[in-house]
Amino acid sequence: MMDVPVALGRRATTPELPVDRPPTAPIGFHVLAKPSGPICNLDCSYCFFLEKEALYPGDRFRMSDAVVETYIRQVIESQLTPEITIAWQGGEPTLMGLDFFRRAVAFAETCARPGQQLHHTIQTNGTLLTDEWCAFLRAKQFLVGISIDGPLELHDVYRVDKQGRGTFTRVRAGLEKLTRAGVEWNVLCTVHAANQDVPLDVYRFFRDELGARFVQFIPIVERVDETSDELTDRSVDPAAWGSFLTSIFDEWLRRDVGEVFVQMFDAALASWYGAPPALCIFSETCGDAVALEHNGDLYSCDHFVEPAHLLGNITETHMLELMASPHQRAFGNAKRDSLPQQCRECSVLFACRGECPKNRVARTATGEVGLNHLCAGYLDFFTHIDGVMKLMADAIRGGGHAGEVMTAFASAGRNDPCPCGSGLKTKHCHG
Ligand code: SF4
Ligand code: SF4
Repeated sequence: MMDVPVALGRRATTPELPVDRPPTAPIGFHVLAKPSGPICNLDCSYCFFLEKEALYPGDRFRMSDAVVETYIRQVIESQLTPEITIAWQGGEPTLMGLDFFRRAVAFAETCARPGQQLHHTIQTNGTLLTDEWCAFLRAKQFLVGISIDGPLELHDVYRVDKQGRGTFTRVRAGLEKLTRAGVEWNVLCTVHAANQDVPLDVYRFFRDELGARFVQFIPIVERVDETSDELTDRSVDPAAWGSFLTSIFDEWLRRDVGEVFVQMFDAALASWYGAPPALCIFSETCGDAVALEHNGDLYSCDHFVEPAHLLGNITETHMLELMASPHQRAFGNAKRDSLPQQCRECSVLFACRGECPKNRVARTATGEVGLNHLCAGYLDFFTHIDGVMKLMADAIRGGGHAGEVMTAFASAGRNDPCPCGSGLKTKHCHG
């Protein structure tokens, strides 16, 4: 039996749905809880969380059982969807210790109503994982996201510890423990100046060396300081970002469709199919993915943990009310409403949506502010995949699956017309 502390066990009653559901409340939403705030055992050069320590001077940055309980109860009772995700990230959430998560999961299990299925996720750098941790994560069917930027020589450029030492070996050891224990895991890879030019080295390492079956790529776009639109030299170059994605896409298309899931490709396919993309960066509006700090403060988004976007504290105001608040709805709509004219007239707007507002630090050709730094890369990538995505979306509409398209490409000769319909020979189009 799990050891449930008195403080949690006493309140472990099945909650009722809130009586008043604000009409502007989203049907489902995503909360990223940061139990240790921005505190981390590593010191990655590009990490934007570490500076958030200044928001709570003198704080110990440990989520109390009372806040855990409020978070879990509210997140479960707020959602109308049958599947509910309880997500943890950091900083480094494993710094809270295993017992913290044992108590949290035990409490969540007492809150789920009949018919509701809970999914637990945790994003970690993997360096503190032990066999005991992995046994727990397996038993509770956690999906674990591991942050890794490629093979050692690429990963260790920026992902270093407080002594400036590379962390690859420790991350890999954590990953091996997860694999041995049978825990489901995926890769989260940030793309930056150090790995942007070797996409296939990165992708093949994940696929062939690690055996990854689900990969996320996150571009690093890092301001020199909060008041400036100047970017650090660690930031990914827009053109390099485009060729990073297109190179991996072509490799994936030739051999991995249906076997390896690249979140960005799945999200793109949803756009071509006409379904809402599962990635907020490609959604028309934001506002349905919030960040919860260790003390119960709820912020508009994990990328906007700053005073101007503090919605309130969930121990004082119900999360659902904060999600439905005019501030949060305006934050969400601003993504669409602040698009520059160049985006509004763009042929791939339906897929790109101007990407994340955090990255809109460039100017358009006419000098208008608000263009995404990565624009050139996205234009290149989405244009490149257009023909294939149309074929995949048609295959799915016809009751088939995207893998059928891979078969068409695999059987096309290098001098045959590309199956994507571009009019080019395959060797010039998709490799
Ligand atoms: S601000 Fe960016 S990360 Fe946040 S919800 Fe919007 S698109 Fe997503
Ligand atoms: S590709 Fe560029 S212009 Fe087109 S929607 Fe995206 S950011 Fe805007």
